[in-house]
Amino acid sequence: MRNPAESLRQISADGLLRKLRTIEAPGMRIAREGRELWNFASNDYLGLAGHPAVAEALIEGVQQFGAGATASRLVSGSHSPHLQLEEDIAAAKHAEAALAFSSGFAAAMGAIPAIVGKGDTIVLDKLCHASLVDAARLSGATIRVFPHNRVEKLRQLLESIRKKDAASHILVVTESVFSMDGDLCPLAEILDLTEQFDADLFLDEAHAVGVLGETGMGLADDAAFRKRVAFQMGTLSKSVGLSGGYIAASREWIDLFINRARSFIYSTAPPPTIAHAARRSLEIIRSSEGDTLRSALRFNISLLDPQQTTPIVPVICGSNASAIDASGRMEDNGFLIPAIRWPTVPRGSARLRASLSAAHPADVVRELRTRLDEMFYKTQSP
Ligand SMILES: *Cc1c(COP(=O)(O)O)cnc(C)c1O
Repeated sequence: MRNPAESLRQISADGLLRKLRTIEAPGMRIAREGRELWNFASNDYLGLAGHPAVAEALIEGVQQFGAGATASRLVSGSHSPHLQLEEDIAAAKHAEAALAFSSGFAAAMGAIPAIVGKGDTIVLDKLCHASLVDAARLSGATIRVFPHNRVEKLRQLLESIRKKDAASHILVVTESVFSMDGDLCPLAEILDLTEQFDADLFLDEAHAVGVLGETGMGLADDAAFRKRVAFQMGTLSKSVGLSGGYIAASREWIDLFINRARSFIYSTAPPPTIAHAARRSLEIIRSSEGDTLRSALRFNISLLDPQQTTPIVPVICGSNASAIDASGRMEDNGFLIPAIRWPTVPRGSARLRASLSAAHPADVVRELRTRLDEMFYKTQSP
């Protein structure tokens, strides 16, 4: 590609041009380019990005550990907050060990190519996040895809892979809560299948941590699933309210990641204060305060969409133009609700994606419901 302008013209003609906008005030009531909007575009499901105790921990961490980590952990050593955070994550996930990365994307890109390679097979749900798809490609393993949440298709795939090779490593990759649809994977059935066909499960809990589970640690945080998910991936950038990613797994796999995960080895560790604050945030998620926040979140979900079980509420529009138009009109009504287009979602299924938070006032969620009803009633009637 010698000429970016040509590509940009094509992207624009397809209704797919994205631009960065400036946010002047953060939180649920944001200011963006001079306009105050209710923010339904964040993944801050419990409002912890604005929690005073998390902010306090960040400041405390800077005072104790400085601003940056200054080197990869393999070069300089690990600052104590990273090790403590990993212990906390492992305990909360009922796993032997955990490893922190600088983002969820980096966690997937580092771990998956360390788990499978040439001669192995990786089996992904069709709607898996880009980080999982890119990591699968990078791994060099054979990639197979099953239609979204179709366990019977997954069974057929696993059966045929095993028939050809009884010994190869099979890694099944899926998400707890699908990021653009807000639906759940059928975890019980998937685990039955991975166990039947001697495959490992890699579960991306990015949108489930903070929201689901007995102690708020995700879909696998349930007595029925304990110790059955080989790799539990997550991010510290959504409900945890900060940034970073992690994998929880057996001690041996974690030791292998320390030696093989290139996004871990060849990247400077995140600032130790982020790990320090993430511990505080996870503590809140797992406490009775976390339970209270989850109740408030569930209440908001019930107001916007009584059918929905997660904070992600998609409104399918179809064409890129109609999704952009709908998003613009919601903005005129004072709501920031992004239009999500290909390649984030399949072509022809462009949508509004509203993400709810415990920090949204219930009255605002009610008003949003009313506006959506008006708009989609109007656009759909003759
Ligand atoms: C956001 C997200 C990631 C990436 O996490 P970051 O910490 O933002 O890099 C991975 N998987 C899923 C499903 C996500 O939604």
